[in-house]
Amino acid sequence: MIHVDFAIIGGSGTLSSDFPKNFAGVEVLADNLFFETPYGKSPAFRLCSVGGKEFLTCKMHGWRSGVTRADSSRQIFWTFREAGVKRIFSEGGVGSVNHLLNPRDLMIPDDYLDLSTRKDVQLDGRYLLIMRDALCPELRGKLLTSAKKFFTGRIFERGIYAVTDGRHFESPAEIAMLKGHADIVGQSLAPEVYLAREIGACYANLSFVVNYGEGLRVWSHEVMKNIFFDDAALIGNILLDALKNTPDDKSCDCMSLRKETLLKEIYDA
Ligand SMILES: [Zn+2]
Repeated sequence: MIHVDFAIIGGSGTLSSDFPKNFAGVEVLADNLFFETPYGKSPAFRLCSVGGKEFLTCKMHGWRSGVTRADSSRQIFWTFREAGVKRIFSEGGVGSVNHLLNPRDLMIPDDYLDLSTRKDVQLDGRYLLIMRDALCPELRGKLLTSAKKFFTGRIFERGIYAVTDGRHFESPAEIAMLKGHADIVGQSLAPEVYLAREIGACYANLSFVVNYGEGLRVWSHEVMKNIFFDDAALIGNILLDALKNTPDDKSCDCMSLRKETLLKEIYDA
């Protein structure tokens, strides 16, 4: 098994760019790496390096047909755990809930609201996961610094990400219900955020608004499509720059928020 400290979970933002091939300073060390996991064969990973740091990356949260999203996530995080991954960046397009947001705004969420029904997603349940500062403050800071270097539009350094199951988008009534409770809505932050904490890795996410939440304003599929294609280089550059500038030693408290479970006898049985 390979050993790496860093990983990037690609989402809709980098999908059209064959990330991270063709990005400055990136070397692809191995392509099409698959791993046999207890949850089925993993999606394809790439092992890459940038700025002297090696990292694993996979496409579109590992989602593919014939595999549940829960299993895709478990395959990815089982692999990360085996590889010793300690820092994870993810990205993805989201809908707006806060009526001040526009398509092409960037947000680095600092909290989330999980409305998905994928509640039972874990690897082995040995830990009590305290979800305070679930999105690593240190990695969020790195994303913010890098986003400012590459993007002249609006960047929100905090916000609440509501997670829904999808694949469909939300109804106007669902967006109305979320208003006041979340700023953006998407489908990938959970269970990734739990699984990252379970394997003892820091996790942060870069979200970019691709459409208005239903009922807020009329939005166009054309604009959404353009954002995915036009901004893939931007999103990739921000992630790679943040990774390059993350020091090897952690200065956050994420690890103190994972405790041995008090229900040990259940999991030892
Ligand atoms: Zn952390």
